[in-house]
Amino acid sequence: MTVLEQGNITFNTENIFPIIKKSLYSDHEVFFRELVSNAVDAIQKRKMVSFAGEISADVEPEITIELDAEARTLTISDNGIGMTADEVKKYINQVAFSSAEEFIEKYSGKGADQGIIGHFGLGFYSAFMVADQVEIDTLSWREGSEAVHWKCDGSPSFELAKSERDQPGTRITLHLSEEEKEYVEEGRIKQLVKTYCDFMPVAIKLGDEQLNRQKAIWRESPSNLTDEDYLEFYRYLYPFQDDPLLWVHLNTDYPFLVNGILYFPKLNPSVDVTKSELKLFCNQVFVSDHCEEIVPKFLLPMRGVIDSPDIPLNVSRSALQMDRKVRGIANFISKKVGDRLKGLYKEDKAKYIESWQDLGTFVKFGAMNDDKFKGQVEDYIIYRTTAELGETAVTETQVEVQTEDGEDAWADATPKNDSRDPDGNSYTTLQEYLERNKERHENRVYYCNDAAGQATYVELHKNQGLEVLYLDAYIDTHFVGFLEGEYKEKEIKFSRVDSDLDSTLMDDNKADEIVDPTTNKTKAEQVKEIFEKALNKPTVTIRTEALKGDAATPPAMVLLPEELRRMQEMTAMFQQKQVEFPDMHTLLVNTNHPLIQNLINLNGGAIVTADGAESPSAGLAKMLCQHVYDLALMAQKGFDADGMKAFVERSNQVLTELTAK
Ligand code: ADP
Repeated sequence: MTVLEQGNITFNTENIFPIIKKSLYSDHEVFFRELVSNAVDAIQKRKMVSFAGEISADVEPEITIELDAEARTLTISDNGIGMTADEVKKYINQVAFSSAEEFIEKYSGKGADQGIIGHFGLGFYSAFMVADQVEIDTLSWREGSEAVHWKCDGSPSFELAKSERDQPGTRITLHLSEEEKEYVEEGRIKQLVKTYCDFMPVAIKLGDEQLNRQKAIWRESPSNLTDEDYLEFYRYLYPFQDDPLLWVHLNTDYPFLVNGILYFPKLNPSVDVTKSELKLFCNQVFVSDHCEEIVPKFLLPMRGVIDSPDIPLNVSRSALQMDRKVRGIANFISKKVGDRLKGLYKEDKAKYIESWQDLGTFVKFGAMNDDKFKGQVEDYIIYRTTAELGETAVTETQVEVQTEDGEDAWADATPKNDSRDPDGNSYTTLQEYLERNKERHENRVYYCNDAAGQATYVELHKNQGLEVLYLDAYIDTHFVGFLEGEYKEKEIKFSRVDSDLDSTLMDDNKADEIVDPTTNKTKAEQVKEIFEKALNKPTVTIRTEALKGDAATPPAMVLLPEELRRMQEMTAMFQQKQVEFPDMHTLLVNTNHPLIQNLINLNGGAIVTADGAESPSAGLAKMLCQHVYDLALMAQKGFDADGMKAFVERSNQVLTELTAK
């Protein structure tokens, strides 16, 4: 080999390589991504030259990797554009090393592995993180070029020699240091290709095997992709997961370049909504799976790929959040997501409703956290309702469709504007709810947040034709407060079904009926007195009402005033405790119920007789009152262990007494 030139790399710091090694310790493996990216670039450049007609016969573009465990070398070869001796001097010696210096100035002592996102456009010299010596063997595509061989052992001196190479392209050989010998292992290299290079647009081969998948479908036009393409890609990225609910294809080049596909996953308990599982790419090169700074918080549970060369990679996380372009991209993403939701609602309501269980949390969280997004989706936030909607659309219709071979055929089509899910539950927006009910209860929304626990209350409302919304998702506790704030000016109030009863549920005519001519007491007064004496609990307010309805209307109900209950929920939240059932509550006794009627009869109207003594059946009456109260509590889940014990004991006692008669 004839030595052409020997010299020193123009460089001030003598010992740059130890510093590179040290400051990037946590991320050594990215050298691989950098070198393969350079090879891809070289191949793309060659393609451009060949398009321009400057190279005639072209070759199949390819990157090959060779591993030699004995020699402890890793070689990356490409048949790209290659370099002339001058280019090696210019690009490898000067540019690379001067930017290395800049890099060190910028990052040394700052703890590169903490504040910095962890991936930089390190370039060629990142090879020295793992290699003691690096060789370049290259031939430029330019006619008449001579192949050159460059060698550098990590000290700032290099050697440039003639090479025997006869095909354009570049071959980089890394003589790995002892500590980095893992990079001669096939398994390790395959893993690196899969992580960083899977979607690079050039085949990467180890022997005869192609290691990368190559097809970056996010770079394709959505019109060329089928649903199956999207699903298959999702399954490839997130194996063994449920299929996603829907997806959004991002595709823009102004004012920034962003490509990508975002998927709404099915939310199961194993999905951590605070951790992003999105993959960030830069020109099809994987960069990171930390997108926490790039996507708006509420979209963190989304999955998929964001590819943008406009996201700066060599800045700290906090700087990234402040970056105007990044903020622009975040806004763009949430707008696209909003558009997609709106589109689905309008075009395929049935699917929208079906996905709502999972989508709802995203959307509500987003609406609470991002004003712009709220503006986009507020008309498409839906609630399960007790009203029966969408009847007109039940019947399956037949539509004429064209089969692939162009013939007309009949196919069943489920109507796409049905307001019900497959179980027949109806869904409504808040606007529709308010509009539908404005005659009966203007600006009041009845809701239930525990379908099982509040079933009695819901039933009572429903029977009287009052529409109740289910706000029973985890997020709804906050969402109700948010909605009230939103609708403050319109004074829309949200009442949980068990907070109070609407006057329409009461039978006014019967309330003041006088039942005891001797004392002139109304039935209501009598019942109140009996219960107060029997329960003897100052924290429980007894209220009597004659409730409308049939036998299913319960004899008594526990009411938790809205304000009081919310205050308690707030306190519990601040103290990070479970919400306890409030001691202060109201027991509403339904004077219309036969059980209550019987109770009065049983007792002759009073537990204590006129002379102050207990009436003969006072014992049983007391127990029955307790029992009615317990049943009401039970419907509300307000039962602790002692309460349960007392209830069972008393049940047995009551039954014994009743059977003795
Ligand atoms: P960057 O890739 O960011 O420009 P690098 O330090 O990685 O920085 O590379 C410097 C330059 O060296 C490249 O811009 C390119 O001109 C040249 N180069 C590096 N690797 C190759 C290669 N495999 N084939 C041809 N040229 C290369």
